[in-house]
Amino acid sequence: MENQFQFDLERYISRERFDRIKKFAEDKETPFLVIDLAKVEQKYDELISTLPFAKIYYAVKANPNESVIRMLVAKGSCFDIASIYELDHILALGATPDRVSYGNTIKKAKDIAYAYSKGVRLFATDSENDLKKIAKNAPGSKVFFRILTDGSGADWPLSRKFGAHPDTIYKLILQAPELGLEPYGISFHVGSQQRDIGQWDHAISTCKYLFDSAKAEGIELKMVNLGGGFPANYISPTKETSVYGAEIIRFLTEDFGETLPEILLEPGRFMAGDAGILITEVVLISRKSEANQYSWVYLDAGKFGGLIETLDESIKYPIYSEKSGPIQETILAGPTCDSMDILYENEKYALPASLTEGDRLYFFTTGAYTQSYSSVCFNGFPPLRAYVLED
Ligand SMILES: *Cc1c(COP(=O)(O)O)cnc(C)c1O
Repeated sequence: MENQFQFDLERYISRERFDRIKKFAEDKETPFLVIDLAKVEQKYDELISTLPFAKIYYAVKANPNESVIRMLVAKGSCFDIASIYELDHILALGATPDRVSYGNTIKKAKDIAYAYSKGVRLFATDSENDLKKIAKNAPGSKVFFRILTDGSGADWPLSRKFGAHPDTIYKLILQAPELGLEPYGISFHVGSQQRDIGQWDHAISTCKYLFDSAKAEGIELKMVNLGGGFPANYISPTKETSVYGAEIIRFLTEDFGETLPEILLEPGRFMAGDAGILITEVVLISRKSEANQYSWVYLDAGKFGGLIETLDESIKYPIYSEKSGPIQETILAGPTCDSMDILYENEKYALPASLTEGDRLYFFTTGAYTQSYSSVCFNGFPPLRAYVLED
């Protein structure tokens, strides 16, 4: 059996649900994404039941699909936005400004003013210049301060660019009331697809330290924003959501005792990742030389068509073929004329040797950071299409 193609489908989806999606997808031209809306809803409920005291601010960038946003609005979710375009998008879909956090620390003055004019009163910041811009363009608003984390333990670290050292943050906290703003809380992001739950421990302790330091100056902070980082189900397994929840509750109570501050979460990948199946077709199979043991399998979806998180092979999607039989180790690449459009070269995916042109491959866990990342028209290929399965 060892050299036979094996794939534990049930780890990602029930056979019944897969058959449903396959049928739904049958007559559609590849490549495209199918978003299983019920799955997003299930992930939302899972997180709420794990951390019932927390408010969820869905990170819109992970998957801004209209049906996803509408469903979350109906469920009472809040939203973390990064731009005025995301703001307009979610307001048009029924979100109200009191449920919005402007979480990007990099913003133009006029965009802050625009968000303020639409009713947004909660802003993230990590620098003095940004704080001043908020004070001027969104007077009286609540601000929360993002601390730097190092992103270790994460498959997709994103921390270096955002956040500031606690000493810098401390100064900003003291400055906020002088500028007429309400210093409201502390935030961080431990890095996306974070496997090491201990990363929250250290960050939460830093929050507590800042709470205490601010209090000594008569400033009462009220909120801790635990950011994103909660994992989706890729090839390499992670701990259960319940384990993340239990550990995080332990860290919080160790530092803050029984009366916790207001707790916010900003899940993106966790909420949308598992809900997506990207369906692609084999365009070409070739071999670079007679002697080379690997075949190159070129697909109609690549780095520019939604799979940019294969950069440095950081995110390893589970890839399923319905064929069976002996395996062939393959190098997977996309269809465009840019030579960086290779998905996996170090990691040799074992796929059925009988795979042929025209066969479909199913990339699981592609609901987050795929469609929103796909390029406009590189080489003329249109951006990744998405269909939503609503029932
Ligand atoms: C991207 C982002 C998130 C979502 O991160 P995930 O790891 O996908 O959950 C949350 N908060 C902020 C500020 C972000 O930039």
